Amino acid sequence: MGYGYEFECEKCHYKFDVSLGSGASYPDVYQEVIRKIVAGYYGKRWSLIYERTPDAAIRANNYIYICDYCHHWICDKDVSLYVPKNRDLDSLPVLRNKYIVSDDNEIPYVPEDYIRSNYTTYRRFFYYCAKCGRRMHKAKDFEENGLSCPRCGEFNEAVSRFFWN
Ligand SMILES: [Zn+2]
Ligand SMILES: [Zn+2]
Repeated sequence: MGYGYEFECEKCHYKFDVSLGSGASYPDVYQEVIRKIVAGYYGKRWSLIYERTPDAAIRANNYIYICDYCHHWICDKDVSLYVPKNRDLDSLPVLRNKYIVSDDNEIPYVPEDYIRSNYTTYRRFFYYCAKCGRRMHKAKDFEENGLSCPRCGEFNEAVSRFFWN
């Protein structure tokens, strides 16, 4: 289940929200993001790196990325590539086709908690600010409930938190 925050700009009263984490079907989301990587949605170079890394996995949750300079933000998937700390493929429940198939679901994916404990960052994907071109950073937990208004730029604290699936 995912969570999110609702905002209402104190200055211009624009309402916006962000949905973080992932909804009910993480495996579906995972496959969708993989399809986009392979199709070159994140750049030709990124799809090549992915194709050349048979044990690469991703974290297909929604995260917020913020520009350090102008505070413009976006909500998108972490398509950084993670690989097993122990890359001896024979010793891991990872198939040559990159995925673990979970018991309860036919759709192959690598669970996020499995990545957190058994994987390490291989290539970090960076988003660049559409407004000023600078590199954006992945928001820390404490940054998620305070965002600038997409319309007027005013900084706002979230008015409520919600759960979604
Ligand atoms: Zn910027
Ligand atoms: Zn505003």
